[in-house]
Amino acid sequence: MALEEKFAEVENNEFYSAAYQRFLAEGKLIGSRCRTCGHVCVPPKPICPGCHGGEMVLEEMKGKGRLLSYTVIAVAPPLMVEEGYDRNNPYCGGIVELEEGAKVPARIVNVNVRNPEKIELGMGLSIKYLKVGQGNETKTFLAFEPTS
Ligand SMILES: [Zn+2]
Repeated sequence: MALEEKFAEVENNEFYSAAYQRFLAEGKLIGSRCRTCGHVCVPPKPICPGCHGGEMVLEEMKGKGRLLSYTVIAVAPPLMVEEGYDRNNPYCGGIVELEEGAKVPARIVNVNVRNPEKIELGMGLSIKYLKVGQGNETKTFLAFEPTS
């Protein structure tokens, strides 16, 4: 099925957040672009935070951006503890500004979490889809890694 048809189906039948997760699992990052002012949101929103217009179109993001801010987290929430993150194995979360202009929270991987001062603000990042869990329990998380 063509991407446009899938998007049309989503816009007609599903909540935006469900659509976002479903596409993420397929290795696609989608956002919404406002037809009126061009503002891009990830995850997609039905109402534009820029101009409050309601004419949004879903669009696939290219998956490139730069690091706007980050934090290295040693006291992990329960879900992350299950994945093996804790004081001895911290992880990095950040805000990525996509080329399309949207600012999106994501996990930042393949950076030196033991020397966080080496993580550079503004560095180029590429999308990476993190698969966690097995079989039907598999969840896909949005992550970015430094562009090589
Ligand atoms: Zn707008």
